[in-house]
Amino acid sequence: MTDLPVPIGLLAELTHRCPLGCPYCSNPIELTRTNAELDTKTWINVLNEAASLGIMHVHLSGGEPLVRPDLAELTNAAHLAGLYTNLITSAVGLTVQRFSELRAAGLDHVQISIQGVDPARADSVAHFKGGTRAKLDAAKRIVEAGMALTINAVMHRNNMDELPAIIGLAENLGAGRLEVAHVQYHGWAIPNRAALMPTREQFLEAEQIVIEARARFEGTLVIDHVMPDYFAERPKACMGGWGRQVIVVTPDGRALPCHAAATLPGMIFDNVRKKPLADIWGHSEAFNRFRGTQWMPKPCNGCERAEIDWGGCRCQALSILGDATATDPACALSPNHARMKELASASATNTYRFRRIGG
Ligand code: SF4
Ligand code: SF4
Repeated sequence: MTDLPVPIGLLAELTHRCPLGCPYCSNPIELTRTNAELDTKTWINVLNEAASLGIMHVHLSGGEPLVRPDLAELTNAAHLAGLYTNLITSAVGLTVQRFSELRAAGLDHVQISIQGVDPARADSVAHFKGGTRAKLDAAKRIVEAGMALTINAVMHRNNMDELPAIIGLAENLGAGRLEVAHVQYHGWAIPNRAALMPTREQFLEAEQIVIEARARFEGTLVIDHVMPDYFAERPKACMGGWGRQVIVVTPDGRALPCHAAATLPGMIFDNVRKKPLADIWGHSEAFNRFRGTQWMPKPCNGCERAEIDWGGCRCQALSILGDATATDPACALSPNHARMKELASASATNTYRFRRIGG
């Protein structure tokens, strides 16, 4: 296959275990149990295969990757394979000792997710008391050690009023990057959609706040704004396009084109326990199913944005329309775009279904 793209990133979901219970967690409702997780040797093999495939960047993620006692060993294996290592963590459990082990192992970058600035509110969304304090302590240690830090602030209707304070916090902590990331409605966020969805007014205000902050902090703090699809007129390129940039490996070894792809019915996902990563990337049915533009129905077929957004998100088409092959309803050109708007303006609820093993 001559035009096979070279993947850039590996999202290594080391575990689904996590002490927190965020209601917007992108992990699937059916979380993988500990006894089904890949062992250290298999993960090291995957990391080496990823480097041989041309991947440059590994995101060590979860769940909470710190619950794996072999995290430093895996980080070191990735480092020795020549991969840039990014730890995506809640930072609960990133003690002085763990951080120093990871640093010695060659960790390059840490991304800490926060729920807000008010500890009581933030801890209640994460369903974990004391989490905010632990995150701030860890963030300070990372910056003091001279390591690159990104703060990932997940935004929803119940913390949008804290956005200016969140930007101030990222600045005070000395983070190099802040991701203002509106909830993406996959995994646990789907049953919690009505409780998390911001109003259009909140979204527009957030956009304005980010524009002003970007100008204010130019050169010192990079601010990314990950938009909510529900208020968009065109979709995002999901993971840079299906099978184009990223390979996700789940805790039990399934290789996916995006972290929600396992929800798509009728698809067989190859497992890294049984096949080399290069073979999966190039030849697996799942990676080739929506790769490129051949599979696209109208109006994507022939659209000038077909190779820009690659038809948007298959999992979103499935979860909203029940059809993974349909045009992403986030697109205003989709005949089903009105359904997206209806969901965005549905009445809000005040109760969360918190993430936990067992559903
Ligand atoms: S989103 Fe929350 S619950 Fe999900 S893995 Fe991250 S910290 Fe844990
Ligand atoms: S029609 Fe398809 S390719 Fe065109 S903008 Fe919409 S989702 Fe993207």
